Amino acid sequence: MNVTTIATALFTIVELPYAYDALEPYISAETLHFHHDLHYAGYVSKLEELTQGTPYADMSLEEIITSSDGAIRNNAAQAWNHIFYFGQFSAKPQHHPTGALRKAIERDFGSVESCKEQMTNMAAALFGSGWVWLAEDGDGKLFIIAKPNAGTPIMDGLKPLLAIDVWEHAYYLDYRNQRKRAVEDMWNVVDWRIIGERYGDNG
Ligand code: MN
Repeated sequence: MNVTTIATALFTIVELPYAYDALEPYISAETLHFHHDLHYAGYVSKLEELTQGTPYADMSLEEIITSSDGAIRNNAAQAWNHIFYFGQFSAKPQHHPTGALRKAIERDFGSVESCKEQMTNMAAALFGSGWVWLAEDGDGKLFIIAKPNAGTPIMDGLKPLLAIDVWEHAYYLDYRNQRKRAVEDMWNVVDWRIIGERYGDNG
């Protein structure tokens, strides 16, 4: 099973695939400027600083995540997680999963609404900073996983499909302390066509 490879030179900042205001009113341009230009870019530049002159400087983010630990792994995972997170939204999203992904979600969670509700509740309940993921194993079984800090299913050998960033920097400018409402609104801009493509990309 191949994890979605993020095709980029290691220390390149991947631009947003839409305008900064494209996700308004659910995610503001101000939030995206801070989140992409400062937080995400900060992880990339920290990773560059930490890996200079080491064998990691020639690896892909996925290779670093699975072969390092400590600050290098944290910054590589945060770089990967953010490219993946920003890449799942669109201004004109497909609001519902279709095809094989919809069938798998209904098989493993009962319904799409139940899957979204479980993810939202786990995001609201995760203590501190972290991520909630929809991921699949090598047999195509789906899992909802909460990971603290920089955690990603790649570390568990699972393939990520969808990410909810529950670090305060992802929502605090727009939603203050209302993390659950931020996640409920986020669903309005998740493009299930993209999630479906990730699911179909089984390698
Ligand atoms: Mn973030």
